[in-house]
Amino acid sequence: MGQATLTIDLDAIGANWRALDRMSAQGTQTAGVVKADGYGLSAPKVARALAEAGARRFFVALAQEGAAIRLALGPGPQINVLSGHMDGDASLIRDLDLTPMINSIDQLTRHLDALPDHAFGVQLDTGMSRLGMSLAEWDAVREIVLTASPELLMSHLACADEPNHAMNAAQLALFHHMTDGTQVPRSLAATGGIILGQDYHFDLTRPGIGLYGGMPFDRATRVVSLSLPVIQTRVIDAGDVVGYGGSYQAAGPTKVATLLAGYADGLLRAMSNQAVLWHKDHPCPLIGRVSMDLITVDISSLEDEPTTLDLLNPWQNIDDLAAMANTIGYEILTSLGSRYRKLYLGAGST
Ligand SMILES: *Cc1c(COP(=O)(O)O)cnc(C)c1O
Repeated sequence: MGQATLTIDLDAIGANWRALDRMSAQGTQTAGVVKADGYGLSAPKVARALAEAGARRFFVALAQEGAAIRLALGPGPQINVLSGHMDGDASLIRDLDLTPMINSIDQLTRHLDALPDHAFGVQLDTGMSRLGMSLAEWDAVREIVLTASPELLMSHLACADEPNHAMNAAQLALFHHMTDGTQVPRSLAATGGIILGQDYHFDLTRPGIGLYGGMPFDRATRVVSLSLPVIQTRVIDAGDVVGYGGSYQAAGPTKVATLLAGYADGLLRAMSNQAVLWHKDHPCPLIGRVSMDLITVDISSLEDEPTTLDLLNPWQNIDDLAAMANTIGYEILTSLGSRYRKLYLGAGST
């Protein structure tokens, strides 16, 4: 097998959705966030697995992503577009029954002009300064918006993965201030917000990373495994160097395995001389720089000749690997390349 294999357990995604759904307050709906092609794992497949688990609402970043979900799921589920109503998106929004989350007065005008009777929601900025209407903008258009019957008011937490961060309570208070008394369904929590507790849940939660097995949902079921083929092995001598720049120098005789995957497959260059690969439960250090299609691994401690080594397995999850590359599980997942053979396990895999 000349191709690395990324194994994706769709049943685990369904189990994670059900676990997050059980953590949500009574009467709170649990959506599924499937932006960026389902965090890199194939949005149509992930969405079908989530629908099977019970999800009835999905969030995407772009209208085009929403179209792919609609084609996969058919009519019925609600599909919310976080980037709102962008110029040129009206026909996609209308024809595929997408619900834009309006982020600004410009978007509000565009939406009400183009599709006055079409469902929409509003995203409010409660302190993250990224997307959504500020308090001043909201005050200016609140009555117009409420008259047009939005189906959801939402905001997003900047520091939900740090439970003691003062911003959580501040954003919660501002969200209450902006939305109390509106009678419109509300949503504030992504994965981190679900874990903060029921005060943050409102009518709808929007987990993403927890579905895919990532922190801060520390009780998540593992979703992805990644196994890389060994092309060749060699034994080098003390003083020999490995890879571009000669950034690794052997201290003694070292058995080096060369594996067929590199930064073009999402193995971040920051993993150079940092990451660990696995032969079953046995760790082997990545040595030298990650190249475009190849990495080199010190397998001196192995007794047998492995034909593959694992980068994600029961002993190393996306967050462990992220720590080795000084990043987050989200970036590990969404970087995983398109060159892998993707093997789907579970009910929705066919
Ligand atoms: C990405 C995103 C989510 C999901 O966040 P996770 O941390 O992956 O659970 C929810 N809401 C918004 C607005 C997002 O951008």
